[in-house]
Amino acid sequence: MNFELLVATNNAHKLTEIRQILSPFHITVYGLNDLNIKVGDIIENGNNYYENALIKASAIQKLTKMPIIADDSGLEIEALGNKPGLHSARYAEECGGHANAMKQIISDLEGKDRTARFICDIVLVNVEDKPLLFEGIVPGKIAYKPDGTTGFGYDPIFICDELGKSYASLTQEEKNRVSHRGKALKKLLTYLKINGYAR
Ligand code: IMP
Repeated sequence: MNFELLVATNNAHKLTEIRQILSPFHITVYGLNDLNIKVGDIIENGNNYYENALIKASAIQKLTKMPIIADDSGLEIEALGNKPGLHSARYAEECGGHANAMKQIISDLEGKDRTARFICDIVLVNVEDKPLLFEGIVPGKIAYKPDGTTGFGYDPIFICDELGKSYASLTQEEKNRVSHRGKALKKLLTYLKINGYAR
């Protein structure tokens, strides 16, 4: 029988990435919509990615005993004091969308160092009696202009060091192999395999 895992998100892009990585290992991945689970606005007021992921997971944990993962991620740009970081989603909203946010970042970085990283913390609850954390960090650079059309969010301006290409110019398989979420998910997968939940 497949291991059933609920992802505390309605973000279709994230769900696709997560399904592609986990489903070959006898894991059935559900999003909140799939199970008709409705939660109000979750206030992500943690001090770091782990705390925010835990806030999301805990909100859903009140509604089901199923194993749940929640992730929180962000783009940290060194020359901008590691912003937008924890507030990556909010920053894009305040700019009127990711396209504007990327323009603003490129303009703010004129003449500055372009070192950046993407971070993803995944928290797993309802499996052990404490939450478990799986983290992926990917070093990269901010591009001089957006490049590529795949993916979502800040993908067009993040050039990952490993491939020297923007996330948005990678296929889904390539992104999964090198991305912050992909790396965190692989750590989760290793845990699930070692403990007999995945095969
Ligand atoms: P969340 O809080 O983990 O849903 O993500 C925060 C924000 O980080 C998203 O709304 C995007 O702006 C950005 N982000 C997270 N992961 C990615 C990614 O894989 N590509 C591009 N942007 C991302």
